[in-house]
Amino acid sequence: MAHDPLYPSLITDALATVRYPGSGKNIVELDMVADDIRIDGDNVSFTINFSKPTDPFKASLVKAAEAAIHLKAPHAKVTINTASAAPAPAPKPPVLPGVKNIVAVSSGKGGVGKSTVAANLAVALAAEGYKVGLLDADIFGPSMPKMFGLENAELYMHEVNGVNLIIPAEQYGVKLLSIGFLIDTDKAAVWRGSMASNALKQLIEQADWGELDYFILDMPPGTSDIHLTLVQTLGITGALVVTTPQQVALADARKGIAMFRDPKINVPVLGIVENMAWFTPEAHPEERYFLFGSEEAVDALAEQYKVPVLARIPLVAAVGEHSDKGVPVALENTASAQAFVHLARETVDAIDRRNRELPPTLKVETH
Ligand code: ADP
Repeated sequence: MAHDPLYPSLITDALATVRYPGSGKNIVELDMVADDIRIDGDNVSFTINFSKPTDPFKASLVKAAEAAIHLKAPHAKVTINTASAAPAPAPKPPVLPGVKNIVAVSSGKGGVGKSTVAANLAVALAAEGYKVGLLDADIFGPSMPKMFGLENAELYMHEVNGVNLIIPAEQYGVKLLSIGFLIDTDKAAVWRGSMASNALKQLIEQADWGELDYFILDMPPGTSDIHLTLVQTLGITGALVVTTPQQVALADARKGIAMFRDPKINVPVLGIVENMAWFTPEAHPEERYFLFGSEEAVDALAEQYKVPVLARIPLVAAVGEHSDKGVPVALENTASAQAFVHLARETVDAIDRRNRELPPTLKVETH
């Protein structure tokens, strides 16, 4: 039986009835139909261009185009090719490929000594011979430049494989970058969330951290968008939760543990660090005064969440004084320094255990 012959405008008229969902326009208007329409008897072939290879409407639009042609010419044998203008983006290179373990030092509440613990842990690990990096991500009060005596540090960049990377500062064997290097410490707290997040990502992804055994993150206190940014940028091996024995601090530490365990965050909690566990006068290291509460309260929290108490750090005037001078106390040979050396060893063990028992932490993917 003879059919009406096919001709190009019949095809384009048919295709002009196919709308691209959500655009209010048809695929001819949107220039998606390539000018390669070929007609040979009942056979017609042409290409539809999609802006990306993963276009979610690809399959349904091809079907709709075929149906639209069949409506006008039921006998047509239709072949539709698809093409994508933009190639699929190359997969991103892994973040921090030379870093073995990433440890978040966190606290539920400000002022419990989280930064002091992070700084001394980093220094003590470096003194044990490990390669250590420390990122001060505490946008509410970046204190690492002061604790490491690097308040006037200037940052430099160098080229690695054709990419310009920030060179971390180096002090006491620790590679260090702080959000405080990028902005006035007083102003950091008023940064909009996205600015702080982007600055932190830059300090992680566009810095030459090289090979590290332990990359320590001094987190902002509590729970914040920054936590989310960090777990989306890095697979954090595990978290330490710093608390004092005070009830208010413990209540917030509980929230901190719950945050890391939330399925959206999903970072293993390595253990609790009890800071300011007791007061010891410098001249009488054998004396202990339990000012803020007893160890039992911290033990109860650890028991409740089935996590170990990795170390108990005394409140000693020298700890604070050393921080203020820019020389972490862990560098000295004193009783309080010993507490941090002990913490470093316990942390190494806790990470080894975690790495034996659990798969690597994945970055949290955003959709
Ligand atoms: P956070 O990071 O939790 O806000 P910091 O580490 O800044 O807390 O500590 C708060 C204050 O307490 C600082 O002045 C610090 O020097 C002091 N501090 C912290 N831990 C001790 C300690 N174990 N002994 C004495 N002072 C401490």
